[in-house]
Amino acid sequence: MTETDPCKREREEMVEFQVRARGVGDRRVLAAMRKIPRHFFVPKGYERAAYEDRPLPIGEGQTISQPYIVAVMTEQLEIKPQDRVLEIGTGSGYQAALLAELAATVISVERLADLADRARKNLARAGVTGVKVVVGDGTEGYPPEAPYDAIIVTAAPPDIPGPLIDQLAEGGRLIAPVGPRDCQDLVKLVKREGRVEKIPLGGVCFVPLIGQFGWRGEGFL
Ligand code: SAH
Repeated sequence: MTETDPCKREREEMVEFQVRARGVGDRRVLAAMRKIPRHFFVPKGYERAAYEDRPLPIGEGQTISQPYIVAVMTEQLEIKPQDRVLEIGTGSGYQAALLAELAATVISVERLADLADRARKNLARAGVTGVKVVVGDGTEGYPPEAPYDAIIVTAAPPDIPGPLIDQLAEGGRLIAPVGPRDCQDLVKLVKREGRVEKIPLGGVCFVPLIGQFGWRGEGFL
């Protein structure tokens, strides 16, 4: 963004006090968060709240995550510039915009077509190119572009969907909130020699991941 960006200072303070001070030190992640105008990704009327230390509503009962949680998940993906990354749950497009700063290819799958449309507009307005937003059930992953070096799931399934593990490349990392409807454990999987190592990262609260390999049944599909 240019020097006339009215939110530049708020954004720098967000990175400094909410993210870096709490232990996220990856320089590429911090630079991406300093650059991407988060206020372009929140609904009208919420722009002033975009840099606060909390999640915000983005319509359809969904939320854009708290900046710190976005930072932790992004850092833990250990993205390299040549990587192919899959996001499940495009929402506002903010997380996808950060991923596009860090990786070569970003595919983001969103279940709700209205949110996918809005995310595409938000990304264009922020000048972010190189994110392919796909409407579909992300619990099935996105086989046409698999395998992925990193997969980030930004809605919570009861268990990690099998297709996502299958679509993870050798050496790949997957981050997902996993567990009950309201609050979950953030989990990192690393695929090594075909085996999957599981690393717990702490407690979080995400909206449910709804689909064939996620939450199913009455009221959910
Ligand atoms: N990463 C987003 C926030 C995600 S909110 C951001 O940066 O703004 C969670 C999103 O996951 C919601 O938009 C919800 O519609 C979506 N979602 C839920 N189940 C899904 C599924 N099976 N496939 C794809 N998206 C799903």
